[in-house]
Amino acid sequence: MGKGVYTFGGNRNEGGAAMRNLLGGKGCNLAEMAGLGIPVPPGFTLTTEQCNAYYTNGRQLVNELKAEVMDALRWLEGARGCGFGSTENPLLLSVRSGARVSMPGMMDTVLNLGLNDKTVLALEKASGNPRFAWDSYRRFITMYSNVVLGVEHALFEAELERTKERLGKHLDTDLSAEDWKVLVSAFKDIVFEESGHPFPLDPMDQLWGAIRAVFESWNTGRAITYRRLHRIPDDWGTGVNVQSMVFGNMGEDCGTGVAFTRDPSTGERLFYGEYLINAQGEDVVAGIRTPQPITRSQAEGTGLKSLEEVMPDSFRELDATCQRLETHFKDMQDIEFTIERGKLYLLQTRNGKRTAMAGIRIAIDLVDEGLIDSKTALKRIDADSLSQLLAPVFDPREKDRLRKEGKLLTKGLNAGPGAATGLIALTAAQAEKMAQEGPVVLVRVETSPEDISGMIASQGILTARGGMTSHAAVVARGMGKPCVCGASAVQIDLARGIVRVGEKELKAGQDWISMDGSTGEVFVGKLSAHPSEVNQVLVDGRLKAEDSELYQRFAKIMAWSHAAKRLKVRTNADTPHDAAVARAFGAEGIGLCRTEHMFFEGDRIIAVREMILATDIEGRRKALAKLLPMQREDFEGIFTAMNGLPVNIRLLDPPLHEFLPQDEPGQKEMAEVLGVDLGTVERRVAQLHEFNPMMGHRGCRLGITFPEIIRMQVRAIAEAALNVAAKGITAVPEIMVPLIGTVRELAYTKTEMLDEIAQVNKERGTQFACPMGTMIEIPRAAITSDKIAAEAEFFSFGTNDLTQMGFGFSRDDAGSFLPEYVGKKILEDDPFQSLDQEGIGELVRISCEKGRATRPGIKLGVCGEHGGDPRSVGFFHRVGLDYVSCSPYRVPIATLAAAQAALEQ
Ligand code: ADP
Ligand code: MG
Ligand code: MG
Repeated sequence: MGKGVYTFGGNRNEGGAAMRNLLGGKGCNLAEMAGLGIPVPPGFTLTTEQCNAYYTNGRQLVNELKAEVMDALRWLEGARGCGFGSTENPLLLSVRSGARVSMPGMMDTVLNLGLNDKTVLALEKASGNPRFAWDSYRRFITMYSNVVLGVEHALFEAELERTKERLGKHLDTDLSAEDWKVLVSAFKDIVFEESGHPFPLDPMDQLWGAIRAVFESWNTGRAITYRRLHRIPDDWGTGVNVQSMVFGNMGEDCGTGVAFTRDPSTGERLFYGEYLINAQGEDVVAGIRTPQPITRSQAEGTGLKSLEEVMPDSFRELDATCQRLETHFKDMQDIEFTIERGKLYLLQTRNGKRTAMAGIRIAIDLVDEGLIDSKTALKRIDADSLSQLLAPVFDPREKDRLRKEGKLLTKGLNAGPGAATGLIALTAAQAEKMAQEGPVVLVRVETSPEDISGMIASQGILTARGGMTSHAAVVARGMGKPCVCGASAVQIDLARGIVRVGEKELKAGQDWISMDGSTGEVFVGKLSAHPSEVNQVLVDGRLKAEDSELYQRFAKIMAWSHAAKRLKVRTNADTPHDAAVARAFGAEGIGLCRTEHMFFEGDRIIAVREMILATDIEGRRKALAKLLPMQREDFEGIFTAMNGLPVNIRLLDPPLHEFLPQDEPGQKEMAEVLGVDLGTVERRVAQLHEFNPMMGHRGCRLGITFPEIIRMQVRAIAEAALNVAAKGITAVPEIMVPLIGTVRELAYTKTEMLDEIAQVNKERGTQFACPMGTMIEIPRAAITSDKIAAEAEFFSFGTNDLTQMGFGFSRDDAGSFLPEYVGKKILEDDPFQSLDQEGIGELVRISCEKGRATRPGIKLGVCGEHGGDPRSVGFFHRVGLDYVSCSPYRVPIATLAAAQAALEQ
């Protein structure tokens, strides 16, 4: 292994932004900033490789690494002009984790490392500020004991509360050096009691302990949960950043804060953040004191003093530095800073997490500002997150009504946009449990990484404390969940399971709340959501395009995507309405029109049942004759909606018993309606019973045994196409035969279809013809695709059935074991959600290759659920399909994913 430790800052800056994988995001950006001449406290980074080595070495820090750390430490002492453990001028350190991508589930940072009973005195003397020295010491003991030794934080908190009460003081800042001194000794007692060992006073022991703790934190439950959720590989490892301290808690000319170069919630270009005077580290996000706004405009009307007002020089430098960082990294930055006696230091910068809305706006604005091109912008947008643009929002009129009725419970910060309604849950565990029954909203004082699973299970998150950069806000935005935070009127009584706001009391598990993460409003009761602006423009036409900026941005992303992608995006739609919606979203055709859905509507089911009961071909024909005009009318509607675009129609697929009532009352009713006796119905139901309907008498097998059914369907298609053509509409049907296993099934079916079409043409004196092809959804079909292609003009991969039959998993029954498969890493993902590229994808690949060998121009598409899954779309692009097809609301996602796949190549 190469070098294990890289220094940053001072006169030896060894890293840079390009070394993210090795140094982690925090470490590489600290070095990058130092390289730009931005003030960064110097330090050094232990590489992510060392994290993996730590585990292969039986969780030990090996001597080679320790020697490298010692070298870097000596350099750092020189750079800062002080000594680690020195009793005159002690060097204090922060130890910070830092993986390739930011992971809130990871270890908390340990600050002020190097303090002990002797160095604290030296710090007292060197700073001339005893209160600061002892405040730092007590912080260090608390953090170190919690993070490294596993002593519960609450124990120290309780001790602090008791002391404040005894002294009659309210704020941490009211405590004197003497008070902290007493607490330090009490804290040490707590550590001894809890861990069985005295608090480690040797600075080197402290350092090794903290480094080890960072490596260990890579494998805590919450870190693993976070990695699963965000698909971060386990073998990336974390870096460890050991950095010299700068102090925001030395007095009134000091402070610490966080800032964004743009609003992470809306994407608007405004400098934005929070800070605290005379504070250190995570005080800002911990919610102990209310953070103050950074800019004047942000402070307006709050009565709070902005940094711009209080420390104008530092503010100006901060603002300029942040703008510079944004230009340098060409993306919105989320930065952490500390001001020590009027001097500004940057402690972190990263591309800021943002909502889907903000992500889109920022990407477009950066293009307009000339920082990036449209291709880069497309690559940066999470395709799945487009679904948030289409997600419903609350009806403003209904909100008005609730407001008038006094049902507005409270207002907090609009930390994560979107509408959420649910029963109140007060703990993560409760949320997880309740979510199995119905929607929940998680209500907490504040959240911590332990709450992740509960947050995932909830529709939205409401917190009483914390700002726009609190844990709840950051994590919720990352998940695309609505979030309202800092709703300080909310009081939570965990013991009684009650949320109280003023006079109102709501009960967890019983009462509903609705929260609007875009405005911060929280209502009592259930609110119904209504269509997003994009839908209002495209689908119901209630809003004009020029009146919705949101829509305009959406349209721009779609236009760029259409220009960049190669794959066509079609939709799965069975009704003219769905077809029209999908077309409005940019669908370029229908990839799957399921005819069976048309059989259920209204009176049709009666004719269908009549057909099924018929004992001979004549009886069946009679019933089918009733269905013909209805089916024809359906197709006319769809062809009209899709005028000029291809419509891929699949012949009847499900087994016939799905059309019969399985219960006695239903069967009685059917007997009455059809004028037959109950016994006839019962016998037919019994006859049609199958042990394994998924693999029973369905798909092309129906047409082979009852050709008159598919003849009716094909006639309906042909006649509908001719009828609309007479009205000037261009119908482009394609007829698809489901569940082919061998080419002979297709050949037989085709003969019937061609004959029926010939008859239609003869009757009408026309020359109707259309492509005929097949689904590839049975493994045998996939591997004999060279033969099948001789008869098929196109293939459409039915990846749902292909996954079922390829794995031998019944999709409807897999719920009982698939989650465990994923949990135990037997499978990376649920293969019904994201295509199993290695196995089922290989079947697709083979089929494409063989199909093309026989028929070079064969049209290839996919119509399973995977057609709307961005990762699967990437795969379909790479194997060279012509199109993907997905549900109407996923069309935009598939479109962007297709563009991203094309841009990646
Ligand atoms: P996280 O990844 O949870 O944000 P960080 O390692 O960034 O953790 O540390 C959290 C906070 O601790 C920083 O924002 C900063 O306020 C404080 N901090 C970290 N290192 C230093 C340092 N060298 N000097 C002063 N404060 C520090
Ligand atoms: Mg932290
Ligand atoms: Mg940080």
